[in-house]
Amino acid sequence: MSSERRADIVIPDARLLVISGASGSGKSTVVKQVAADARVSPFVSISATTRAARTGESHGREYLFLARDEFENLIRQGDLLEWAEVHGNLYGTPARPVLDEIGRGRLAILEIDVQGARQVKEKVPNALFAFIHAPSMEVLESRLRGRGTDDEAVVRKRLANAVEEIAQANWYDLQIINDQLDRTVDELVALWSDRISRGA
Ligand code: 5GP
Repeated sequence: MSSERRADIVIPDARLLVISGASGSGKSTVVKQVAADARVSPFVSISATTRAARTGESHGREYLFLARDEFENLIRQGDLLEWAEVHGNLYGTPARPVLDEIGRGRLAILEIDVQGARQVKEKVPNALFAFIHAPSMEVLESRLRGRGTDDEAVVRKRLANAVEEIAQANWYDLQIINDQLDRTVDELVALWSDRISRGA
């Protein structure tokens, strides 16, 4: 598959917040809370993925669940702001909704892995990049097991991936240890609002 990417995507300011973190870091909860915060009220991007839906997930809410050929079409057409293979599945951010919302003056938030975040950094250097850490590896592992949605092999793969992701987190603008959710969210929103008001 070609890894050629659309070069003409330009988002000129800090209205984009990119959040990464290992599975089990609590980043999805952080994203939900930031999304509900009236100081920013961002659009939350819905990613496309080739992963199968888990129980309770539905198409168009958690993800756009696509067949591999459908996903590859999006890549070919240049419709993705970024994409990456994570845990053996493809994940990507449809560009259009993000560009439209930002064009209307709204803020936008992406929850994506480190590989995808690097691609966004190239296209949108002034976006705010935040990496969420679990309070400890023990907490991260017990959260992964506690989900009960993945079998042992998947848990192991996610743990190995977590170690790798954490090792690549040094270039993010902000690294937050998520030991107190309210504080994590407050810190993030305050920093984001500040950057936007300074016209970063
Ligand atoms: P999960 O399958 O547990 O929902 O997500 C697995 C990983 O894929 C997470 O690290 C998540 O941040 C990442 N991910 C979700 N959506 C995207 C996306 O659009 N692009 C990229 N690069 N990673 C994504």
